[in-house]
Amino acid sequence: MDFATDFYIALPLAPCLTEIHTLTGENLFLVQGSRRAVLIDAGPGLGDLPGFVHRLTTLPLTVLLTHGHVDHAPGCALFGEVYMNPADRPVYRDHCTWRDEYVCGQVGAVDFPALAPQLCALQPDKPMLALHGGMVFDLGGLHIRAVELPGHTPGSMVFLLMEPRLLIAGDACTPSTYLFLPESSTVTAYRAAVCRVRDALAGQYDHVYISHGHPETSRTILEEMPAVCDTVLAGRADGQPFSFRGQNARIAKACAGRFKRLDGGCANLVYDPLRLG
Ligand SMILES: [Zn+2]
Repeated sequence: MDFATDFYIALPLAPCLTEIHTLTGENLFLVQGSRRAVLIDAGPGLGDLPGFVHRLTTLPLTVLLTHGHVDHAPGCALFGEVYMNPADRPVYRDHCTWRDEYVCGQVGAVDFPALAPQLCALQPDKPMLALHGGMVFDLGGLHIRAVELPGHTPGSMVFLLMEPRLLIAGDACTPSTYLFLPESSTVTAYRAAVCRVRDALAGQYDHVYISHGHPETSRTILEEMPAVCDTVLAGRADGQPFSFRGQNARIAKACAGRFKRLDGGCANLVYDPLRLG
C-alpha cells in the first residue's frame, strides 16, 4: 500500500454530499453549498487531509466535529475554523494522548512505522469555536442545523442538512452505538435524548449517514432506538458479551459479524449493565 496517496477515498453520496473514507476506517463527510463547504469530522490526522479536501472543493471550509473521539477529531489540528461542542473538550484532550496507539491498532504494527511520520502534530488545546444545538450554518442554498444528541459522549452532535433532507448521525445513533465508555451517559438518559431528537427532526430527512462501516444506515434508526433502550432497561436484552480496550460490555440485540442484528432490526446499543439509569 502506498501510504502517500491511499489515506482517503472520495465517494459521492448526493449532489451536495461526499463521503471521505479514511485508511483507518472512518467516514468523514464533505458538504458543499454554493458559497461555503463544511467538513464533518477530521479523522485521526492522517497525511494532507486539507489538500485532499481542496481537490474536491475550493470553497471556504469550516470543520464541524460530531464529537471529540480519537477516530473523529485529532485531524482538526490541520484546519483553521473548527467547531466542537465544549462538553467534549475533556474527552478530546484525553483521546489525543492515545491517537498513535489507535492508528497502530487500525493499520497493524507491521505497517504503522511507515505511516507514523505522516500523522499530524496533535493539538490537545486547539482553539475551537463552541458548537451548540440549534446553530444553523448557511453554506449558500444549503443549511446545516446542529442538534445535540448526548449519550455516546456528553457533547455528541448530529447534523441535519436541511434542503437535501439528509441526517449525519456520526456515532450518536447507529447499529453499534457505544454507550459503555467512561464518558457515556446512562441508558435512561440516552433514551430521553434520542426521543427528543426523534421528535424534533420528525419528517425532516430521508437518508441517515453514520461514521463507521457502510455510510448509509436505516432511515428509521432514531425511531427504533427507544425500543432497544427499553429492552435493556426491562432486563429483556439479549446481552451478548462484548469487550473493547479491556472494558466488558453487552450488546442489546444479538448480532452476527459486524453488528448485523439477527432479528433484522438496525438500531443497537452496546451498554454497561451497571450503568443503566
Ligand atoms: Zn465515538
